[in-house]
Amino acid sequence: MALAEATEKSRVKPLSPEDEVAALNARFEGATAQEILAFAIREGFVGDIAMVSSFGADSAVLLHMVAQVDPETPVVMVDTGKLFPDTLRYRDQLAEALGLTNVQSQKPAKDDLSEVDPSGMLWMSDTDACCHVRKVLPLDVALEGYGAWISGRKRHQAATRSSLSFFEWENGKVKVNPLADWSAADIISYAKARELPPHPLVAQGYPSIGCLPCTSKVKPGEDPRAGRWRGQDKTECGIHLASHGREVDGSGI
Ligand code: SF4
Repeated sequence: MALAEATEKSRVKPLSPEDEVAALNARFEGATAQEILAFAIREGFVGDIAMVSSFGADSAVLLHMVAQVDPETPVVMVDTGKLFPDTLRYRDQLAEALGLTNVQSQKPAKDDLSEVDPSGMLWMSDTDACCHVRKVLPLDVALEGYGAWISGRKRHQAATRSSLSFFEWENGKVKVNPLADWSAADIISYAKARELPPHPLVAQGYPSIGCLPCTSKVKPGEDPRAGRWRGQDKTECGIHLASHGREVDGSGI
């Protein structure tokens, strides 16, 4: 092959998804969360991106930012059927307050529940299996048809998230993490400055909120996530694990 031909072929060879994501991370190094979101929604993945939110303790910040960029952005919440009623009310109140017009709740498939968790008590014996059928599988369904999704995960939340990038390539989709480098203090400060309504359970001692059976109050001085699956090794719900294995998190969707 002539050099000129080889050079031409290498020039037009498309980047792999991994290389594209690496290029995005290089391009947006030092960018603000708002800049990353504006690019993702208006330029990079137009009509091909959804936000996933747990409507948990600190979800209001990213939801507010998304609403500022485009209030019609699809927002997916996985309704496991085991959430606190307060969370469902908060979802509706927050969506209305922020002007979000496309909030969708995705529930587990009835057939899957009939097969795996007919009594609704699977969480007592196998939390990984319960999270898989109630969180991981419904999210896969909700994100079908999207090439990218926005998550509110942050590096400070867990050791497993300490090297989190703004853009990731995972399970055939781009995952965008605009708040990756935000601290807990940044979140509080942003929410306070804009008077964003807090999740009602935060004031009752729940700094991290997932499903009712698997979330307990946290005592002063404890890690904010200590109330999630208390007494178990479990820290992640599987949604954020590359293989979508049987492991499981939840709060930081
Ligand atoms: Fe089931 Fe608990 Fe996971 Fe919710 S957090 S899906 S109740 S194991």
